[in-house]
Amino acid sequence: MTVLARTAEVTRRYGDVLALDRVSLDIRAGELVGLLGPNGAGKSTLINLFTGLRRPTSGTVELLGGSPQDPVMRRDIGVTPQETGLPEALRVGEVVDFVSAHFPNRSDRAELLDRFGLRDLVRRQIGGLSGGQKRRLAVALAFAGRPKMVFLDEPTTGLDVEGRRALWDGIRAFHDDGGTILLTSHYLEEIEALAQRVVVVGHGRVLADDTVPAIRDMVGVRRVTLSADTLPELPGVLGSERADGRVHLLTADPDRLVVELVRSGAPFSGLEIRPTTLEEAFLTITARENAHV
Ligand code: ADP
Repeated sequence: MTVLARTAEVTRRYGDVLALDRVSLDIRAGELVGLLGPNGAGKSTLINLFTGLRRPTSGTVELLGGSPQDPVMRRDIGVTPQETGLPEALRVGEVVDFVSAHFPNRSDRAELLDRFGLRDLVRRQIGGLSGGQKRRLAVALAFAGRPKMVFLDEPTTGLDVEGRRALWDGIRAFHDDGGTILLTSHYLEEIEALAQRVVVVGHGRVLADDTVPAIRDMVGVRRVTLSADTLPELPGVLGSERADGRVHLLTADPDRLVVELVRSGAPFSGLEIRPTTLEEAFLTITARENAHV
């Protein structure tokens, strides 16, 4: 399958901050890929490299078989950054026409507005739109030039349930027509609704690259915390640490772990079971994998 966007061993620094650390990633034609990770993981940096807004410190970035810096390549992509400013006095229809006019290949205006639930707002001035409506328009504009590939950075930020649905429908319609999409989110639920493939990033590195169900299994990790002097070997422990006089165990099956703990007869107190954050789950699992190499 054709690769539309590729990074090879890409590192990006901002001064002392290592935003991306040797990231190699291929996005193939027709894929809808979700880039998942907590704030500061490096998602926006990766989008900015793919769309030519930033250059890597080292490594290479390819877009549509060429350089993201080449305007010819950029003409075939659509982008919605995290924040967009639209002129308040213009009407929705005018903004769509203005943006479309920059592209040799334009989307049908009525279809675009329909796909993103904007048809009834076509004569409304931007200044009179709600935050959610503005966001929907900003995302719709990424599709104005009939792009081969679209990059959406946190597309549904600030949207209510209905707005999110409308946006998801528009994104799906593009994908059903064969379009390729890379979108970021820090919610697995959001990515699950759209993508088949999930790339998890944390601290500038790719921590996992897999299907939605596989990632869901990985992040179903729980933290079991208790006080105990010594513990027997327990089943299904993915990672463990002692901190502040407490023992923390990470497991995908806390029920079984607790049953075995009680069975072992080892004295313990103050048992707590909590969900882990996405980042914690992945960093623990990767740290463990690395330890076995
Ligand atoms: P995400 O989109 O996953 O929240 P970012 O790519 O925005 O992550 O940021 C990755 C890291 O790079 C963070 O530590 C962030 O503070 C840092 N960073 C991003 N942009 C800049 C910048 N322009 N100058 C300095 N540091 C930056």
